[in-house]
Amino acid sequence: MKHHPVQTLPPDIARWAASGSGTPYVHERLGSAPGPDVLVTALVHGNEYSGAIAMHELLASGWQPANGRITFAFCNVAAFDSFDANAPDASRCVDEDFNRVWSAARLGCSDNTTELVRARQLLPFVERAAYLLDLHSMHEPSTPLLVTGALQRNIAFAQRLQTPAQVIIDSGHADGVRMRDHDAFANPGGQRIALLLEAGQHWQLAAVQTTRNTLMRFLVQAGCLGKTDVPSGWLLPDRTPPPPVLVTDRIVAKSMDFAFTQNFTGGEVIAKAGTVIAVDAGEPVVTPCDNCVLVMPSVRQLRPGVTTVRLGKLLEAQ
Ligand SMILES: [Zn+2]
Repeated sequence: MKHHPVQTLPPDIARWAASGSGTPYVHERLGSAPGPDVLVTALVHGNEYSGAIAMHELLASGWQPANGRITFAFCNVAAFDSFDANAPDASRCVDEDFNRVWSAARLGCSDNTTELVRARQLLPFVERAAYLLDLHSMHEPSTPLLVTGALQRNIAFAQRLQTPAQVIIDSGHADGVRMRDHDAFANPGGQRIALLLEAGQHWQLAAVQTTRNTLMRFLVQAGCLGKTDVPSGWLLPDRTPPPPVLVTDRIVAKSMDFAFTQNFTGGEVIAKAGTVIAVDAGEPVVTPCDNCVLVMPSVRQLRPGVTTVRLGKLLEAQ
């Protein structure tokens, strides 16, 4: 499959290997006043570097928050280091998906994949964070999304950011736990906030702009700085977010012989239940309900067991 054009260059993050935090590629910035403990993560997937561009810019500028402590973590650097602009879809991970290893059982197991070793290094930073913003991007060009999980506090926090990103309410993946669903972040009785940004297509400049805007709005709302203290050019105008989408189904490929019936890019609303949207090993894949929303359809990482599209329904604006 032909890859999308690579419009942005991977940032040179080698200077962030050495770190005062004691963990490579993890950097802390302290405000002069007490405040929230925030973790911002990029490169959970090695070829999704719009978040790393924004973090690199911010760290290199000497910027500091007014309040609290912000920890910036470049996560799967081993995968990112293998990035090749001629095969840009190939560097998502080294051994396994870094964003599926965050159950206690998996973190505590005896395996030592590249991703598990790195996840164990980052675990103390994840566990101490009151707020987590995990910066991702998408296989296909599409409207930005904020993946919130099912807890109302995350949905409300995301809607208050006033970005064009659409809230996606989902319960995670059957094939492993995401960082944003780890332990206390998934506790219905807790207060911790965790959002995952899907900023647009991995290598488009717009994904970097979306990331800068969302990152600053997240930090302002967490209480790390005032809106007037945001670095010049990082904020985009306030927008009324679209209604959230509640994910109701997830289509997992059964075979390598999986293909969508149209060139879906995400956000399409399919009017009729039972509409064929894909064929998998000769079997039709149909929409389960009327007005079904397609979320992040892609066969770019196709193999049996991989999610090829989430299906959802539009909720009333919240
Ligand atoms: Zn990702």
